[in-house]
Amino acid sequence: MADNYISTSSNFIKRIVVDDLQSGKHKEIITRFPPEPNGYLHIGHAKSIVLNFELADEFKGKTNLRFDDTNPVKEDTEYVESIKEDVKWLGFDWDNLFFASDYFEEMYDRALLLIKKGKAYVCDLTPEEIRQYRGTLTEPGKESPFRNRTVEENLDLFDRMRKGEFKDGEKVLRAKIDMSSPNINMRDPIIYRISHATHHNTGDKWCVYPMYDFAHPLEDAIEDVTHSICTLEFEDHRPLYDWVVRECEMEGQPQQIEFARLNMTNTVMSKRKLKALVDAKVVDGWDDPRMPTIAGFRRRGYTAEAIRNFCREIGVAKNDSVVDAQMLEYFIREDLGPKVPRTMGVLRPLKVVITNYPEDGVEMLDIENNPDDESMGKRQVPFSREVYIEQDDFMEEPPKKYFRLFPGNEVRLKGAYFIKCNDFVKDENGNVVEVHCTYDPETKSGSGFTGRKVKGTIHWVDAKSAIPAEFRLYDPLILDENQDDSKDFLQNVNPNSMEVLQGFVEPDMKGAKPQDKFQFFRHGYFNVDTKHTTEEKPVFNRIVSLKSSFKVEK
Ligand code: ATP
Ligand code: MG
Repeated sequence: MADNYISTSSNFIKRIVVDDLQSGKHKEIITRFPPEPNGYLHIGHAKSIVLNFELADEFKGKTNLRFDDTNPVKEDTEYVESIKEDVKWLGFDWDNLFFASDYFEEMYDRALLLIKKGKAYVCDLTPEEIRQYRGTLTEPGKESPFRNRTVEENLDLFDRMRKGEFKDGEKVLRAKIDMSSPNINMRDPIIYRISHATHHNTGDKWCVYPMYDFAHPLEDAIEDVTHSICTLEFEDHRPLYDWVVRECEMEGQPQQIEFARLNMTNTVMSKRKLKALVDAKVVDGWDDPRMPTIAGFRRRGYTAEAIRNFCREIGVAKNDSVVDAQMLEYFIREDLGPKVPRTMGVLRPLKVVITNYPEDGVEMLDIENNPDDESMGKRQVPFSREVYIEQDDFMEEPPKKYFRLFPGNEVRLKGAYFIKCNDFVKDENGNVVEVHCTYDPETKSGSGFTGRKVKGTIHWVDAKSAIPAEFRLYDPLILDENQDDSKDFLQNVNPNSMEVLQGFVEPDMKGAKPQDKFQFFRHGYFNVDTKHTTEEKPVFNRIVSLKSSFKVEK
């Protein structure tokens, strides 16, 4: 990955990899990114993607993209396609593309092996009974009355489960481990369940499906994954992971390593919750610019480079924490700043008439595309007798230290002239609808004029040639800074997360295409929306405003 950002940091996972290569435990490392295709990827997944792909890259290993599709009810090919697109867009290429469902036959065979070894049995307890028999952290579990079925009986029942003789939930296959283990995951966990549902990949071929804790270690072992990186909540499952690899007599010897998941302020980070927002139509689909999904960020205008840099900066740790969402915004600004041309857009227009400018006069002004980078050149911006400025750049009765336009005051129109306010017009409701000014031709920008100074510079667009545009400004979708999981998170949705404004942009915005990015002077970075932009009217999503108080320590 040829980013400018150089990560010198090491982390505990890297050290494990280095040790394993040096000791000869592995000649090559293989990692995987294993999403379940039950939703779109979010920024938490990006952390895992960057970690897995860059780790393998650094040590010349491989990374598989594997769809962990063992739950037919929730999975869909729409999600498979979106996940592939998002991983690619983030800048990563997988060495292999796998589906866990392609291993169903092998997983079934491994389950038969467990049964033959007396390490698995078919259990008829109801889900509720299984829960009761499981015990608690302080009490050991109770053995199921079906635990001592013979191998023959178990083989027969498991075969009939597969053939579809039983209803959902009527029987399960359980690993026979230890009902008094201090680790509840080891108390005869369920490894196969019955589900008469159509699978997105295998259709109706199967009606028994492996459980995550059984399937995942097998998937890793089948693919010769060496380092299987997952989030901390699976730490207690590791003994079961190792048990499955050992007892199923797998050749591959994957090692599960846990790291802290990414949590972010004002952000829900779970496909299930994000799907609830989509289904409740709180947002306009998975790629709504307010969503913390990769697709949403892309539509908002976040860049893959910035997301990668953010993921590297937050690093990997062994304890959970919450990252400030402003830190991600910091990386967006850092990335866009040098790349994106400057332009002017008026979001809440107020007309200014320059009364001493010729009625039919028009002139073209040369304005720099980026004052910090001459190589980005200049553009020609028309100027004539009427311009739009922002409503809040004029005040009839200004407070102290207001240096913008008010009766009797003079300001600079960015890249153009000084104008002085002489008069204004109000409508019947008392709102100012037009401001009358005079300009001073001597004060043209770039003319070297030094006669006098003004304290305010405001932006504008020429009224005659301006293009109408829509601006969408965003605030956090989720209100609570720290989410309280006991509450229904839909109650924390910010009712004012989007403000839609009708304004104007410079005429050369006519050619702007979806995903083009600009810095509108004084307003921040904007991206041309892919869904709502039309030939006549561009729609701009505000990516991020210009400033924040947040600083990353370097
Ligand atoms: P979700 O609850 O959002 O569905 P998940 O962990 O169930 O998340 P998977 O599709 O199973 O989602 O995850 C694929 C990979 O992404 C896993 O290896 C998982 O550990 C990782 N991952 C998911 N969420 C995060 C997160 N917030 N931070 C870091 N890694 C994550
Ligand atoms: Mg999941």
